[in-house]
Amino acid sequence: MAKATSKKTKNAKKEATDQSHIEARALTPQTGAALFEDARSRLEEVFQALDTPHDARSRLMQPAASLQVSVPVRMDDGSLQAFPAWRVQYDISLGPAKGGVRFHPDVNQHEVTTLSFWMAVKCAVVGLPFGGGKGGVQVDPKQLSSLERERLARGYIRAIADIMGPDRDIPAPDMNTDAEVMGWMIDEYENIKRVRAPAAITGKPIPLGGSQGRVEATGHGALTVLDLWAEQENRKPEETTVAVQGFGNAAYHFARQAAERGYKVVAVSDSSGGIYKEEGLDIDAAKKAKQKHGELAKCRQGKRIKGDELLALEVDVLALAAMENQVTGDNVGDVAAGMVLEIANGPVTSDADAALEKRGIDVLPDVLANTGGVIVSYFEWLQNRAGQAWSEEDVNQRLDEKLEREARQVLERARDEKITYRQAAYRQGIERITEALLARGNCQDCR
Ligand code: NAD
Repeated sequence: MAKATSKKTKNAKKEATDQSHIEARALTPQTGAALFEDARSRLEEVFQALDTPHDARSRLMQPAASLQVSVPVRMDDGSLQAFPAWRVQYDISLGPAKGGVRFHPDVNQHEVTTLSFWMAVKCAVVGLPFGGGKGGVQVDPKQLSSLERERLARGYIRAIADIMGPDRDIPAPDMNTDAEVMGWMIDEYENIKRVRAPAAITGKPIPLGGSQGRVEATGHGALTVLDLWAEQENRKPEETTVAVQGFGNAAYHFARQAAERGYKVVAVSDSSGGIYKEEGLDIDAAKKAKQKHGELAKCRQGKRIKGDELLALEVDVLALAAMENQVTGDNVGDVAAGMVLEIANGPVTSDADAALEKRGIDVLPDVLANTGGVIVSYFEWLQNRAGQAWSEEDVNQRLDEKLEREARQVLERARDEKITYRQAAYRQGIERITEALLARGNCQDCR
């Protein structure tokens, strides 16, 4: 792992305070490799169920393109640091690759590859004209000043500029990158290409062509999927208790909107621990407390609980909105929720998934439940290409229409074929990718 050792400026200290939500994760290159193997074993199951032609199978078992680069950054103290970084385009049969860029000390090639695979499936599940991509820089952003982060973001774009673009590969924010970082990135890209090409990156600041509603979109979409499930189960929001793991962008907006809709959000957590209140939490008050104290554990509302206690709460819905590998073979026995909603990418490992299925606990999978963000990214790309700017109301209405239609198909397929929601979503996505891949010709075993 590359480490920044530069003398920090005042700016850097401010940045570290602002980014107090950035947490360390225990994702080593080994667990990264296991993550990809897990993803591939799920894919093989789908191939079998769909009887996918061999040509498509062999194309989809590995990424179409994978670029590893080293991003040199001039630090504030004058020294030079080189950060390992990746951009992976898993599959581009349905359209240009789409996916975020993550800044994290544990980022590695396997993780970026797995995330790009999930992006490919996700975009296909909700019928977007995109393939799957992902990027990552192995860096601890807490150690960088704001200017160093900007130089890193620009350096990353210089390194991948030749393989990106509105019709090739469209980066976006992910863990520890946000609209500000996207602003630096699009500026660098446009300077290199000497054109204005806002559709080359999504999740941008509004003045640079960002979309209304993008920040809230992942939480909004997860709530839409939860609503459909509740409707199918004949369950009213007021009778449904929800615990949320995580309190970052996706989790906070989900929890706030779910509480507004009437769901009883009884617990939330971050890596410092969580809070629980039987009658339901005041999410905005929790957010203010987190902003003030830097961690939820110091919030006075309700009762303090540990992170693993949240996973074991007897609630109707356990929403996992923090990160990968949270419910595993080791702790799946503790889960006491009626249903698991995956808002993070890959929060349930495949062995845990099988154990939940055996116990009759439904899982609404990440490749459906967290697609609100990428759908609004698609809307941003469309607006940029048409030179338009839609209102937030317009964006949300289009998001609801699109996601409801695609999610209904997944839920109905699960019911009709008597399979899990994950199996139904994967089948919907892989079927669409395979059709596009084979329609491009050169298939030997499908004539
Ligand atoms: P974020 O960095 O804003 O938030 C992550 C949150 O997880 C933080 O509150 C952090 O404290 C918490 N956390 C970390 N470790 C934890 C632990 N052990 N227990 C409880 N909480 C813990 O990130 P985000 O953008 O909200 O993304 C969260 C997840 O959702 C990621 O898997 C991301 O890939 C996925 N996702 C996000 C979006 C989006 O638009 N933000 C879209 C699709 C998927």
